[in-house]
Amino acid sequence: MTLTEKILARAAGKAQVQAGDNVWVKADVLMTHDVCGPGTIGVFKREFGKAARVWDPRKVVVIPDHYIFTADSKSNRNVDILREFVKEQGITYFYDVIDDPNGHWVFDATKGMLQRQYGSQYAGVCHTALPQKGHTRPGEILFGTDSHTCMAGAFNEFATGIGNTDAGFVMGTGKLLLKVPETMHFRLEGALQPGVMAKDVILHCIGEIGFDGATYRALQFDGSGIAGLSMDDRMTIANMAIEAGGKNGIFEFDDQTQKYVDFRCKLNGTKATYEPVTRDRNEKFVYESVIDLTRLEPTVACHPDPGQRKLARELTHVKLDRAYIGSCTGGKTSDFLEFARVLRDKHVKIDTFGVPATPEIVHDLQSARWGEKTVWDILVDAGVQMTENAGCAACLGGPVDTFGRMNSPLKCISATNRNFPGRMGHKESQVFLASPVTVAASALTGVITDPREYLS
Ligand code: SF4
Repeated sequence: MTLTEKILARAAGKAQVQAGDNVWVKADVLMTHDVCGPGTIGVFKREFGKAARVWDPRKVVVIPDHYIFTADSKSNRNVDILREFVKEQGITYFYDVIDDPNGHWVFDATKGMLQRQYGSQYAGVCHTALPQKGHTRPGEILFGTDSHTCMAGAFNEFATGIGNTDAGFVMGTGKLLLKVPETMHFRLEGALQPGVMAKDVILHCIGEIGFDGATYRALQFDGSGIAGLSMDDRMTIANMAIEAGGKNGIFEFDDQTQKYVDFRCKLNGTKATYEPVTRDRNEKFVYESVIDLTRLEPTVACHPDPGQRKLARELTHVKLDRAYIGSCTGGKTSDFLEFARVLRDKHVKIDTFGVPATPEIVHDLQSARWGEKTVWDILVDAGVQMTENAGCAACLGGPVDTFGRMNSPLKCISATNRNFPGRMGHKESQVFLASPVTVAASALTGVITDPREYLS
């Protein structure tokens, strides 16, 4: 069996499963957020009754993160709905925007977009917050009401996005009926060269198979090249499995995985036991690809979908209006550090927005010092508009006052993960997906630029 099949077999209580089987699996964690949480709660109450209880209040993780820093009252109200439900159900893990369990969330626009407005429990973007807060464990099943839930496959678990109806069912029963996906195999060899990042790996893979090339399939990443990829790198790659239509992305378990997971579970006092899955000889794949990381170059997915692959050096004619770094995929500490390495002692030529994925990342950047300055200040001095309000921000457009949102037909190079028309705001805007260093180099020149020109 493949890694995905092994996890699904175990969760279904079976010795063996194969692609195409329909199996009932037990969930280890169900995550929901402010956009889909209210809808999921509605389905749960409708189907299980007003007085129903969630199947396990320690296994439902609630993370407001999407439409948070906006004066839109309906969006603010969604966070209040989550808070009321968490209180009613006694849910253990709720990363509220405010500290008062009886309060109401209101964003104060008069304070501006840059200054932090969250309390001490807020965790930021769900997919980045889940591992940081100790909710991702090898061998487990994670369901989330968000398509990029597949990011947690970096930790050798089966993680996938589900709709509100399925999530309402999981909330009530802790189970879900799943068809076992076929597995596509990506064997990574070699090592990434300077100026090439994990984002380039996944943009390369999606370019190879197309934005629907992995529809309802598992993407398994393994091989000797994995050892050189950090957990942040693996998260970037697993996150974008869905951009090829994948059901999930999954990595092999190794010492790095163990170190990260053990540290985070201990730090947060979450469940610290788990059982990873390892590869066996009888894996059946529907597709096989060997990728030599050494040969990859800075890559861009052009408008209008993540499969429109080109090399950055082929796109120097594309004039840009804006650059953006942020999101679960591109807003991690390591992403910002690489971004800052290119921008240090220089100044951007176009509007450039920086949105860390979580408050912990804001803290990392404000405490890391390079010489006299913090990394945060290096970015601000380079002209990047850095907000402390960690969250999804303009990655998915959002209400019209969202930080970094494209409210007119602009061209933007972005470290985010999705670029279908209208994704970051205006439906005639164009988004070019790239790595943090390609975004940085392009912000300096105002055209799509190969970052290797800026690396010594
Ligand atoms: S940052 Fe973007 S991709 Fe990630 S969860 Fe938020 S909206 Fe989705």
